[in-house]
Amino acid sequence: MVTGKNLIRAEPVTKQLEGEKIDYVTIQVDAEPTVDKVNAGVNIAREAGCGCVIGIGGGSVLDTGKVIAALLTNEGELFEYLEVIGKGHKLVKPSVPYIAIPTTAGTGAEVTRNSVLMSPEHRVKVSMRSPLMLPQLAIIDPELTYSMPLSITACTGLDAYTQVVEAFVSTDANPLTDGICREGLRRIAGALERAYSDGRDIKAREDMCLASLCGGLALANAKLGAVHGIAGPLGGMFTSPHGAVCGRLLPYVISANISTLKKRLPTSRALARYDEIARIVTGNPQAVASDVITWTQNLCNQLKMTPLSKYGIFEKDFADIIKNSQRASSMQGNPVRLTENELYDILQQAM
Ligand code: NAD
Repeated sequence: MVTGKNLIRAEPVTKQLEGEKIDYVTIQVDAEPTVDKVNAGVNIAREAGCGCVIGIGGGSVLDTGKVIAALLTNEGELFEYLEVIGKGHKLVKPSVPYIAIPTTAGTGAEVTRNSVLMSPEHRVKVSMRSPLMLPQLAIIDPELTYSMPLSITACTGLDAYTQVVEAFVSTDANPLTDGICREGLRRIAGALERAYSDGRDIKAREDMCLASLCGGLALANAKLGAVHGIAGPLGGMFTSPHGAVCGRLLPYVISANISTLKKRLPTSRALARYDEIARIVTGNPQAVASDVITWTQNLCNQLKMTPLSKYGIFEKDFADIIKNSQRASSMQGNPVRLTENELYDILQQAM
């Protein structure tokens, strides 16, 4: 049983396990997962001889559970399988059955095939990735998200919005992910502000859970873009909530993408995609790409996204962030290649 710092949130599941006299061990995840903490969880689960993993919590919990489920059947250390800083070996055996139950509405990690882990030693966030890591069952229950406070509703909701926007304009978008993104965009446009201003708005919470699911399905089947390309490396270098960084960067990346596409790739289909996003989120059939920038900026202002400078980032750090961002896998999905200067401008505006 992998859960967050608040054990009460896991009670809907633990009470049932106890009722059925099913033995379990609890592994608590109190922050975005680090390699060491996940290793400790793997050791506990291996020693206990677990045959199934249940993760109930935010993306941090769900990602930790995915790795534990995979390493209960695949031998060796986590390092063998990690991308970039590890050996990147392929998993060979299916994970033990994994049930993923999100309590935030943002990452969609319950339907993705990777886990994002931080290595403080290397100052990077890296993935362990395999189709064998896909959870066997995802249970999406909006009631579990009612307890999210304002700031977590805001950050996770903007992560979901970023994922559907980036997957919709990505170089790997396809007709199936397009439909999923449209659905996610429609739900977010109608629900995120409402969920933020009234956490008990049941319909808004439900829409955000489904939008988060759409984001996960879309990112797992199309690529993301520059927001995640920057947020991944930045999150490894500076302690900062993933969704908050995405929300802060998003309006500036959309703006840079639109102006760069107009200059360098004026026939790109991504420009038509931004027009379509504008029509969906504003509800105005005449809206055009530039309206997405205004709509997104207003949303991020209302949801009070923290400037990057508050995470201890200075302009002197930009060169390293940019170098690492340009190598990130998400950056390869951005509809246009952004130059160092363009990435620099994005970071400066987000400060
Ligand atoms: P999180 O899991 O880190 O949770 C944020 C905070 O919310 C924590 O303090 C947690 O205890 C609290 N919380 C969770 N549920 C709550 C609830 N119902 N009520 C009150 N508090 C609650 O945040 P997240 O945004 O869900 O996940 C972020 C992590 O997911 C990052 O590590 C990110 O890199 C990763 N991620 C993974 C994928 C993927 O596909 N694997 C996709 C996107 C992001």
